[in-house]
Amino acid sequence: MTSLTEIFRIGRGPSSSHTMAPEKAAFYMLRCYPQADSFRVTLYGSLAKTGRGHRTDYAILQAFGAIPCEILWDEEREDLPHPNTMRFEAWKDGALLGEQTVLSVGGGAIEIPGVPNEASREVYAESSFDEISAVCKSRGWSLADYVFANEPEIRPHLAAVWKQMRETVAAGIAAEGELPGGLHVKRRAGSLYQLGARERDIMKKEHFLISAYAYASSEENAAGGRMVTAPTCGACGVLPAVLCYEKDFFAHRDEAMLDALATAGIIGQLIKTNGSVSGAEAGCQAEVGSACSMAAAALCSLQYMGIDQIETAAEIAMEHCLGLTCDPVGGLVQIPCIERNAVGALRAYDAATLAEAVYDNRRVSFDTVVKTMLQTGKDLAMAYRETSEGGLARCYVNKP
Ligand code: SF4
Repeated sequence: MTSLTEIFRIGRGPSSSHTMAPEKAAFYMLRCYPQADSFRVTLYGSLAKTGRGHRTDYAILQAFGAIPCEILWDEEREDLPHPNTMRFEAWKDGALLGEQTVLSVGGGAIEIPGVPNEASREVYAESSFDEISAVCKSRGWSLADYVFANEPEIRPHLAAVWKQMRETVAAGIAAEGELPGGLHVKRRAGSLYQLGARERDIMKKEHFLISAYAYASSEENAAGGRMVTAPTCGACGVLPAVLCYEKDFFAHRDEAMLDALATAGIIGQLIKTNGSVSGAEAGCQAEVGSACSMAAAALCSLQYMGIDQIETAAEIAMEHCLGLTCDPVGGLVQIPCIERNAVGALRAYDAATLAEAVYDNRRVSFDTVVKTMLQTGKDLAMAYRETSEGGLARCYVNKP
């Protein structure tokens, strides 16, 4: 498996697959064809159907800067190598210099058929939870120990990720007003936080505050702010919500926070390797479901649970997100995405709590649930895979 830097990326929202990856592809083309005087980009599949709401065109045009670029939206083509496919053409004096198909495979990562990817360098020899668990048990390691033994240089990256998560949540709590895009979605993180601060019932207080943190990160993402993919932009509220809540109210050491991030990261990397973190490929179970799984594992790490409990928590979190569709209203990462991040964070607590009690009698392994998620995603109709053609995106009525 590859580095955890492939799971946790710091960048700008609102979509890892629809803005970060296309921007990265544009920079790649600029490096390949520095002499080009114009570009043409054709967007296919989910990128064509929801790219306007996700601001794909804006991200590409920004990357090319002063160089003219024409964007074409092809919603009809079906024989695609991936639901998020783009074709870039580089031109000079009216002649085609070269063209390249680029796939946005989830979480901001790109794949270019026929071109080796430096980011795909294998860092971890094991590629299933079962294999990793066997290594950890034989050496007396935690999952975080396993990560730092294989990838010691990841520590500063995780520290930067944690810092950015804190900053994004703080910015989201402080912000007011409406989100861009025309749905007139009001930012709610600040008011949820105030509710939580005032609430005396401890259970409600927890729910309001955890939700406030999830809203804060997701609203920042929807507004195009800086955030961390965990594992995607659309699902960027879940993990920061549980980590920030835990830090603020239980005062965990910074080292423990990095251990939790490493634990969440390896869970995310396993899902990316054996399943999917792409809403266009496997629906929202691959985004918020994966984030929920990662957050449940992080919580177990903070509570010093063992590897079997971590596996159970990550499995429970994913199992009960199976079938979750991706149906963003208007192609914007707002409805149902923001609220869904809050529910995902709360569900991570449920999964970690339950795992503590039932881990010794689990029947479904984490590896099995990841495989199930991918299969379920393949069975989902295209309307439910980031096309804004089904579900809430179809039935929602915008009320003033
Ligand atoms: S519904 Fe889920 S997968 Fe789809 S854009 Fe929103 S957060 Fe991402």
